[in-house]
Amino acid sequence: MPEGKIIKALAGFYYVLTDEKKVIQCRGRGVFRKKKVSPLVGDEVLFQADNDQEGYILEIKERKNELVRPPIANVDQAILIFSAVEPDFSTALLDRFLVLIEYNRIRPIICVSKMDLVNEEERERILNYGRDYEKAGYHVLFTSSATEDGVEKLLPLLEGEISVFAGQSGVGKSSLLNVLKPDLKLETNDISTHLGRGKHTTRHVELIEIGAGLVADTPGFSSLEFMELEMEDLNYCFPEIETASESCKFRGCLHMQEPKCAVKTAVESGDIPEYRYEHYKQFLQEIKERKPRY
Ligand code: GDP
Ligand code: ZN
Repeated sequence: MPEGKIIKALAGFYYVLTDEKKVIQCRGRGVFRKKKVSPLVGDEVLFQADNDQEGYILEIKERKNELVRPPIANVDQAILIFSAVEPDFSTALLDRFLVLIEYNRIRPIICVSKMDLVNEEERERILNYGRDYEKAGYHVLFTSSATEDGVEKLLPLLEGEISVFAGQSGVGKSSLLNVLKPDLKLETNDISTHLGRGKHTTRHVELIEIGAGLVADTPGFSSLEFMELEMEDLNYCFPEIETASESCKFRGCLHMQEPKCAVKTAVESGDIPEYRYEHYKQFLQEIKERKPRY
């Protein structure tokens, strides 16, 4: 039975991209209603087609994950765009995005944009942060959509993956996508037409082919609250804290007041940057004070 990936859902049709790069317009069969699952963009499906244009989806393969906003399944990675300036680079905000992405078991790629706008001093500072994040295990890229410097490094990373772009408004997500795929012609700068809110937003998500990969046309992780996260989860959302915590004496150590905490030792010796540990503590506090949801 042929297989493919749903790249668009619209008006009761699912558009399935096959390995042969054909797009088959499919309807769902009743099976989904019984099982109470409906096909999502990103789903790997088995389908039946009478010709090479139309068919029926017969089975949805097990999902690796599922984002709510935008509704999309099997997201492999998030390209996290943070501008070097305008708006200023903020590690507190970056760490918040990283926690939410890690919690969804999605691989983050950090992309610092607008590198053409920094002076020598700012460049040095940004590159230093980049080294910290690389040391923590993240992939870090530096790009400029104005000069197109560094953008070519992103293309091979998209290959074979489903990616979503994430990051605050105005950091340059649309601009970067336009450099990667000029025929997209996403509008930039004007708030109402920013990626995810303009003409591409007719309430549906679409995966667009960029190079040899698929990228969501709507940015992810727009809500930055730690809704479902528990205090114990936070450890796993900071890779270098997780690594250090393996030598903590107590199971379930939250790395706050506990004696002989290996994480605190790693902060003191400089193995974990202080600001990363500070953000960890702030987020922990935030989760602790979170009001229960009714
Ligand atoms: P988005 O909201 O994340 O999609 O951001 P946009 O792509 O709309 O960019 C916001 C503003 O930043 C626009 O005025 C862009 O022209 C500008 N911009 C984006 N990337 C760059 C860059 O690499 N260099 C410079 N100088 N400006 C950029
Ligand atoms: Zn500890």
